[in-house]
Amino acid sequence: MRSIAVLNQKGGVGKTTTAVNLAAGLARAGLRVCVIDLDPQAHASLHLGLGVATGHESVYEVLVGDASLADVRKQVAENLWVVPAHLDLAAAEMELAGEVGREVILYDKLEADDQEFDYLIIDCPPSLGVLTLNALAAVTEVFLPLQPHFLALHGLSKLLRTVDIVARRINNNLRLTGVILCLFESSTRLAGEVAGDVDQFFGAGAGANTAWADAQVFRTRIRRNIRLAEAPSFGQSIFEYDADSNGAEDYANLAREVMGIALSNADRPKMAGAA
Ligand code: ADP
Ligand code: MG
Repeated sequence: MRSIAVLNQKGGVGKTTTAVNLAAGLARAGLRVCVIDLDPQAHASLHLGLGVATGHESVYEVLVGDASLADVRKQVAENLWVVPAHLDLAAAEMELAGEVGREVILYDKLEADDQEFDYLIIDCPPSLGVLTLNALAAVTEVFLPLQPHFLALHGLSKLLRTVDIVARRINNNLRLTGVILCLFESSTRLAGEVAGDVDQFFGAGAGANTAWADAQVFRTRIRRNIRLAEAPSFGQSIFEYDADSNGAEDYANLAREVMGIALSNADRPKMAGAA
């Protein structure tokens, strides 16, 4: 199984749109995909067609309570499952504050899960708090969506440092493997310039000895497309909402590119210090 956290502590950069439509693209290609919605705003859950979950039917109960992933996971399409979020999740940050091992609760629940998936995709909240740390402890890959405006790389050092620290202290197999340019406006000069900056930032030789040394910038750029912004309110992926849109084309291409990456270490993460 490949396990991917879609992470950027900025809001509005395309995390949820990417988590949902990449997952749907992979599911359409015949792969079994589970999305875990770790954002209290529950946008991924809604986008995938679920109504607002009650507290005890959501990932909140998995992290704070006794629920297993299977208890709250719902199938939303062929090959596609979601572990929904709920507004209550916002309180988890506080409620887990005194808990020993609070960063590895999701990891443990995944270890105990008996379902087999080809892809696990986690939609992270726009923060680097305990929910995001649970995601980073539980996956082997981070995908970073970036919106190409002039501050795209601003604040990135904090995110990269967080990934690096988690990789060293908690989850030795964690790597930032993919950077995705989202909300791309191909007609503007700025988009082209920022794309060049991003290529250079993550280019050959950059980040040596860090968890992002091998990050690739995906060739597929997700163009700004109104259909992608409309689809969530219908509870449909872009493929259901408008299969002929640029958005569907871009996410289908991204899914193909993601499937094509050869990874040497695609197994479940191993905990630091574990035998
Ligand atoms: P995040 O999860 O990082 O906060 P979202 O995926 O929710 O970001 O995207 C922010 C907003 O931009 C949402 O309203 C979403 O529908 C819209 N959006 C995302 N990607 C695109 C795109 N490529 N074209 C047009 N609108 C987009
Ligand atoms: Mg989001």
